Amino acid sequence: MLVCVLLVFELLFIGTLYKLLNETEVEAQREEHAKQVIAKATRLVKVIYDAGDFAEKYALTQDPLMKTNYQDARAEVGEIVPWLKANLHDEEEVESIRSLDETMTPAMQMTDYVVRLIDEGKLLKAAAFVRKKQQDLQPVIKKLIPQLEHLLNTQKKIELATPKLQQAARERIKQFLLIGVAANIMLALALALFLFRRINSKLDILVDNAKRLSAGLPLNSVQKGKDEISVLDHVFHEMADFLKEEEELLRANEARVRSIIEKMPVGLLVLSEHDAVEFANPTIEKMFGYSPRQLINRRFSELIATSEPLTPELLPALLTKAAIKTVELTGVKKDRAEFPIELSICSITLMAGERRLATVLDVTERSEIQRLRQAFVAMVSHELRTPLSSVRGYLTLLNIGAFGNLSEDAATGAERAEHNVVRLIALINDLLDLEKMESGNLSMAPSKTNVSAILTQSIDAIKQFAEERAVKIERPETDSPLYVDEGRIVQVLVNLLSNAVKYSPSGSVVTVEVTEVSDQLTAYIEFRVIDTGAGVPEQFKESIFERFQQVQASDSTEKGGTGLGLAICKMIVEQHQGTIGVVSEPGKGSTFWFKLPAGESLVGASAEL
Ligand code: ADP
Repeated sequence: MLVCVLLVFELLFIGTLYKLLNETEVEAQREEHAKQVIAKATRLVKVIYDAGDFAEKYALTQDPLMKTNYQDARAEVGEIVPWLKANLHDEEEVESIRSLDETMTPAMQMTDYVVRLIDEGKLLKAAAFVRKKQQDLQPVIKKLIPQLEHLLNTQKKIELATPKLQQAARERIKQFLLIGVAANIMLALALALFLFRRINSKLDILVDNAKRLSAGLPLNSVQKGKDEISVLDHVFHEMADFLKEEEELLRANEARVRSIIEKMPVGLLVLSEHDAVEFANPTIEKMFGYSPRQLINRRFSELIATSEPLTPELLPALLTKAAIKTVELTGVKKDRAEFPIELSICSITLMAGERRLATVLDVTERSEIQRLRQAFVAMVSHELRTPLSSVRGYLTLLNIGAFGNLSEDAATGAERAEHNVVRLIALINDLLDLEKMESGNLSMAPSKTNVSAILTQSIDAIKQFAEERAVKIERPETDSPLYVDEGRIVQVLVNLLSNAVKYSPSGSVVTVEVTEVSDQLTAYIEFRVIDTGAGVPEQFKESIFERFQQVQASDSTEKGGTGLGLAICKMIVEQHQGTIGVVSEPGKGSTFWFKLPAGESLVGASAEL
């Protein structure tokens, strides 16, 4: 709008300037026109006199040149008069030129007549005509002169007046230009000032809004208008609304996460890089009996019993082993009471930098259950295995005839009873082994040995069983060194061999192979027990290594298995940092394999056992 006002003003200014210039131009044209009229009128006076003069001279001399001159002058008069008639606009002037024409035309006709008479040689008649008409011509001439003078005077007046008028017009233009430029400058200044104030006040509101947003105060109402600042203000309000929504969402999320952290039954701690507590959730407070203030900045190691090997190096060591690693430790409450905890530590990146997130679980109940289970296993071991062993001893004596000969039926019954008692003792032994391994109470005793010794012991143990089932066992001759718990590895091999014999048809061969294999880092000794029995279906290849998992339910009754053997093998092999598995084609046989780290690496691994 403001720009439009300025534009209208500019248009008016230019229009007026154009009009003034036009007026000057008109004045200049009038001057030029007056000059031309004066020149033509002056010429007319001259050619009228010339015409009369040449006509007179022709009359006197009959010189044809004079006649030609007369005709030329006469023709010029004929041109000038119409020109004047056409170019004079002033009514008075037009009237005077008309009356001049009226006066002049009969005079010229008379002159033409005289010239014609002379041409025809009628000199006397011409002279008589001239004498007769002279009196008529005198007044005509007298009238003609003032008429022409009047015309000349009028035009001269115009010629004289025009420069003054032009000067006045120029002056007007000058003044107008000065006023116009001054007005222009003032208008532009006023406009700039107005816009500056307007923009400034709008910008002030915008800045104030920014300050209010950062201070969390309500914003000024949206600025009206379609200018850029108003649009910016509008966008700013939209952005502020969006931020507010996001903030509320964030707050709601934060509240949800906080309530989860506060209510979760697991203790959470955020530890600085120097293991000082930076955050503890209420569960930790309840667990250790400290108030939040007492926990913050306390060293984490103060919450752990000194008997535990929680050296300052342990935490980083836990972190390097895996992203999350769990250890069982003893926690110390504020009142110095100790309780078992399970601790997991992982690294997290917070805004403040790299931190450790410790998850603490109070495992008092679990430990109690474990203790009870161990007590129960110990009781079973003692209360069940001991009498069973004596029953088995008695049955053996019975079967070998130490108490005299038995009837056929009694002998069969006693044999079956001994067999079942042996199975029961084996089952109890397996259960005890598993229990010990799971509770970490089954210690391994690694020593330097070799493959040959392990093979010999294992095959000797299974020999009689194999012979009973007419299965031949073939072994390799190799004495690669091994650093393992010999008894436990023999136990694994015996288990695999007895399974192979058990699940092979009689008359078949079970082959043992031992090879050295290695991956990029470690060298291994791999044992393979190959049979030609029923094989293991694909879907059981992993589950049979879990406790009580058998391919067929009848395996326990028909084959005398417990479903615990492979689970025990797996535990023993894994405690040796090894792996175990089976390759099988059902109907064609199976190859049970396990591999153990060999050589130096195995010695290193012994520390873990
Ligand atoms: P079990 O005392 O029943 O033999 P294991 O844990 O040693 O218990 O074996 C689990 C199951 O794996 C067995 O019941 C049997 O179904 C299957 N199995 C083990 N070894 C063989 C084998 N050599 N051939 C076929 N099946 C086997």
